[in-house]
Amino acid sequence: MVIKDVDNSKLIIKKFALEGFNVHPSAVELLKTVKPSELDSIINSICKTCSSSFIITVNDVKKVLNSIQKKSEKENKNMNKPKLKVGNKKDGIQLIKDISGKSCCQGKVEDFVAYFNSRYEKLAYILKRRINPTPISALRKIKSQKVDVIGMVNDVRETNNGNVIIELEDKTGLVCAIAGDKLKDCAMELLGDEVISVSGFWNGRYIIADRITFPEVPINGNRVNWGFSIAFISDTHFGSNTFMEDVWQKFVSFMNCETKNERLVELANSIKYIILAGDVVDGVGIYPGQENELSITDIYEQYEFAAEQIEKLPPHVKVILAPGNHDAVRQAEPQPKLPNEFSSLFPKNVIHVGNPALVMLDGVKVQIYHGRSIDDLMSEIPRLSYDKPEEAMVELLKRRHLAPQYGKRCPIAPEKEDYLVIEEIPDVLHSGHVHTFGATVYRGVFVVNSSTWQSQTEFQKKMNLNPMPGIVAIYDGINMTKLKFT
Ligand code: FE
Ligand code: ZN
Repeated sequence: MVIKDVDNSKLIIKKFALEGFNVHPSAVELLKTVKPSELDSIINSICKTCSSSFIITVNDVKKVLNSIQKKSEKENKNMNKPKLKVGNKKDGIQLIKDISGKSCCQGKVEDFVAYFNSRYEKLAYILKRRINPTPISALRKIKSQKVDVIGMVNDVRETNNGNVIIELEDKTGLVCAIAGDKLKDCAMELLGDEVISVSGFWNGRYIIADRITFPEVPINGNRVNWGFSIAFISDTHFGSNTFMEDVWQKFVSFMNCETKNERLVELANSIKYIILAGDVVDGVGIYPGQENELSITDIYEQYEFAAEQIEKLPPHVKVILAPGNHDAVRQAEPQPKLPNEFSSLFPKNVIHVGNPALVMLDGVKVQIYHGRSIDDLMSEIPRLSYDKPEEAMVELLKRRHLAPQYGKRCPIAPEKEDYLVIEEIPDVLHSGHVHTFGATVYRGVFVVNSSTWQSQTEFQKKMNLNPMPGIVAIYDGINMTKLKFT
């Protein structure tokens, strides 16, 4: 976005505000010294490197200016050398974070230690921008005073007198915090293994909590029209006998502008990307007795059928395809992209990514996550319901983690690095898995769960789960259109 006709300081502040940041006056002063022609690109770099900050400091600016200086010195030196291609750029598509090809976990004890350390460090780093914590082991030296502690939630339990005890752990030790009346509801919703901060009064034995802080996403009220739209779908379950082929066909027709409705034609023409967030096929052997619910019982043939269906979509639309728990990759998250034997069946306009995957589509950052952890959130937080999956997704953003709780229904592979931490703030968080539809905007992030193309299964009947099939959200950065193909 270009802003004109404002004085330099206001311009700088406004440009940061557009990206969702506050900026310290000293940082503004320093930025006023750079060439106006370079200001935009410098501000962009600062926003990229400080994506998890709330306020841009003078040091943040200095860091970026130094690296630009170094880069230009290097470039001058290398003027005559041939240029190297950097990144993973493909038709405006950039893969920012994805486990595919990088998995190195063997499930050893050391792997688990490294995994939880990575989770703690990444989330503590986000919290430290707002909180100056006391290491838990250092509490022993303090008699009584106000403290802030960052820790991983080890346990949460209610006492006989109605208080809640939160057991927190950091790399140095373990401490208990007591949450009374005011914080009780919040404390009861804490999930094991999430990283939070507790502020309160240390009495020499425990902390009497007066505040719980989540890593959270910063408030960003500024949204811009992207100039194109993305269609969000998931859980096609190709190969299942409950796959709604007629409903899918209506979506295919819409995408190919086979309608006289001008508004729908215009909408279909605005779609540049379709994201399919997992459970592409129904799979085989996913649950006992599944063979009775399949129309195609061979996994290879299921993907062949899936590829045929995707091929019906217009070839100029790029399809970003991630796996889910029904697909033919490992069950534990993060899941790599589909192996070549299946991915090679799909047409050229399909880009395969892992689950989760953070992708940049023409400058729009989309966090794709199949959404298996939503089941865990639903069972742990009673106020959440399958009718409003977006509310559970907001809890993921608040916790800055795609699968906050370890050891429940959502299996997590102990990679050395925790790929499930939401380090960069996305423009969109897209999930599926629960087969219901819900969308909202949370702190500037468009949150969407994109239902399914499968009618109610026997399992869902038994569990009293009511899917909302055939709903597609189409979003352009400002407006969402919800299309129902049933
Ligand atoms: Fe599914
Ligand atoms: Zn699923």
